[in-house]
Amino acid sequence: MSQEIDEPQVEGLVRSDESSYNAGNAVPATILSLVMNKDLNELVDSIKQLEEKFNSKFNYPYTFLNDEDFTEEFKETIRQFLPKEREVRFGKIDAEDWDIPETVDKEKYKHGVELLDSEGVSYAKKESYHNMCRFYSRTFYKHPLLKDIKYAWRLEPGVKFYCDIDYDVFKFMEDHNKVYGFVLNLYDSPQSVKTLWRDTIEFLKESPEYINEQGAFDWIKENMQKSVNFNITEGYSTCHFWTNFEITNLDFLRAEPYEKYMDYLESKGGFYYERWGDAPVRSLALGLFADKSQIHWFRDIGYSHSPYTNCPNSQKCDNKCTPGYFTPWDNLEIENCQANWMKYSMTDEQLNL
Ligand code: GDP
Ligand code: MN
Repeated sequence: MSQEIDEPQVEGLVRSDESSYNAGNAVPATILSLVMNKDLNELVDSIKQLEEKFNSKFNYPYTFLNDEDFTEEFKETIRQFLPKEREVRFGKIDAEDWDIPETVDKEKYKHGVELLDSEGVSYAKKESYHNMCRFYSRTFYKHPLLKDIKYAWRLEPGVKFYCDIDYDVFKFMEDHNKVYGFVLNLYDSPQSVKTLWRDTIEFLKESPEYINEQGAFDWIKENMQKSVNFNITEGYSTCHFWTNFEITNLDFLRAEPYEKYMDYLESKGGFYYERWGDAPVRSLALGLFADKSQIHWFRDIGYSHSPYTNCPNSQKCDNKCTPGYFTPWDNLEIENCQANWMKYSMTDEQLNL
């Protein structure tokens, strides 16, 4: 990559002390984290970097959610760590929104995850992981703490941010009418989503009116690297936005196509009988119901969640990441689906060509 990445190329988003830019209140947005008490130290690491690179300039609130009560130690440590004026909210998730639903056939679930485990699908037998994926797919945006929130930036423990972000990312999303922002785009383990595409097609046959004509269909269906996936997933490339980083316009999730799609997927049980991740689920919804020009690759955001990295070629990045670097393991290079996104879903203008 020879050209330097220095985005966005728009006026009025960079905060300077002289400007009247209303940081922090510009957009109803939050940084959002579903975490466990034991994630505290790694979470503080993530917050520290996000504050340094972005949020100390823009003062957006934090929202932490947990299926258990946060301990006083957890809450105090986070509060002490952040500036006093920063709004911090802690919420609990209702058991009925988190636990495995009654409607799931327990025998079928047990056999399903045994099979997936034998096929090497990670977390197949971890029920809390299934709960987490279902929660992040169909429930989180209904939490009362997010009622008045339009954009959520998802943050996980133990991630890294490498580059100064000196513009208001949420305002960028709003001004440019974006529904979704991502940094990494991957192939998934096809065994975890064997019937997701088949069920999705069934849903679309019943409700074709939800399909956006400007959707990212080629990205969903084309598979430049791993044609073997097609046999397992019945036509889904498994390309997905890696949702441990995502900035989502929650109104997209609250709208009828997404909600009805979630109800349909829930009725099929694949969050438990298979191990549908929130990433492929969200990505299919975006690829089908959103205009692809409203999905933004934040290539200027240097970010890492092990083992993958997005490292831009920019003077705003510190030297802890190597530009163009994706993964320390050569054999994982094949997991990268970003080339498909660039080929099928970005215009020449977006590519800066
Ligand atoms: P991975 O990135 O796919 O390996 O999954 P993680 O283990 O990082 O989980 C994704 C996010 O969900 C992280 O922020 C976790 O802290 C959170 N998470 C996962 N399982 C649970 C759980 O059982 N309870 C809560 N409260 N958070 C969870
Ligand atoms: Mn993670």
